[in-house]
Amino acid sequence: MPKILIVDDYEDNLYVASLVLSRDNHEIITATSGREAIKKAETELPDVVLLDIQMPEIDGFEVCKRLKSNELTRKIPVVFLTAKYKDSESLAKGLELGAEDYIVKPFNNPELRARVNVMARLKSQMDELASKNQELARLNEELEGKNKALLEAQNALQELAITDPLTGLHNRRYFTERLHEEFLLTQREKHSITLMILDIDHFKRINDTYGHQGGDQVLTEFATILKKNVRQHEIVARYGGEEFIIAMFHIDDSAVRTISERIRVDVEQHVFEFGDQQLHVTCSIGVASYPTVCQDDASLDALVREADTALYHAKETGRNRVVCAPLASS
Ligand code: GH3
Ligand code: MG
Ligand code: MG
Repeated sequence: MPKILIVDDYEDNLYVASLVLSRDNHEIITATSGREAIKKAETELPDVVLLDIQMPEIDGFEVCKRLKSNELTRKIPVVFLTAKYKDSESLAKGLELGAEDYIVKPFNNPELRARVNVMARLKSQMDELASKNQELARLNEELEGKNKALLEAQNALQELAITDPLTGLHNRRYFTERLHEEFLLTQREKHSITLMILDIDHFKRINDTYGHQGGDQVLTEFATILKKNVRQHEIVARYGGEEFIIAMFHIDDSAVRTISERIRVDVEQHVFEFGDQQLHVTCSIGVASYPTVCQDDASLDALVREADTALYHAKETGRNRVVCAPLASS
């Protein structure tokens, strides 16, 4: 039921207006001064204020001004109830202050009812709009939250797709993609690119002796040693079962030898722990750099093939060693 606040310092006017408006389904409240009107507007939050202009102390204009500058009462439609219809300037002032409408006294009853009903309907529509806006804002916030969660899930999924679950290193797919990008850059900028393929020696024996879990433990710790030996911009990945690959950029031959030898020694000296058992493993490393090798066949496949051949030679010539391409012709 719309709540109408009627404000007039003249009680008879209040009585008549109340009587007329009570024929519609309104809840009527009244105030006989500007001060009381402001207070009631704040506490009762009426849907329409019917406001007399001429009142002692605080007049209707001032009441309207205060209602319109208060966040609580700003949206309540104000209808001036005025005898000053001849004074069009004062009416204009009232409308400028934010009043929605005016009715001239002595008022025509059906007109008063019609105008108040229009304002009550307007207020109810505004309220509905405000609550829909609020709901929209809430839904928007909810959507943003869900979008964020989705994005996070997508990122996590993407990360999962390029990660080897056992060692946490990147997988072969990621390595190959990144290497292609780096290779193009390398060719354009005439930089060098170095591949190291590492394969754990006699890994089958580890599995046979300590079980698959023991083998997994070795793979995980092996990966940790590699991570420690590469820098941020270098790429390390698990290439296959017990085979790993590292790509390094812009390093000269002697640095390549130093780093690969350091990795070999780190692995050899590392004590792998499996339960209360301590294990030792070694690895063989094949190294190839572009453009040092495969100048004729400037393809990534050729570079990988060269590193693989070097690894094969490391295995053939006793394991636990580094062999760099090009191989010394025998
Ligand atoms: P070599 O010195 O010639 O490299 O001998 P190797 O025994 O290391 O090589 P081989 O290729 O014969 O055996 C590799 C073994 O690695 C066989 C396979 O079962 C095991 N392997 C592959 N992936 C995994 C894995 O994820 N976990 C474990 N525990 N073993 C794996
Ligand atoms: Mg092996
Ligand atoms: Mg192997």
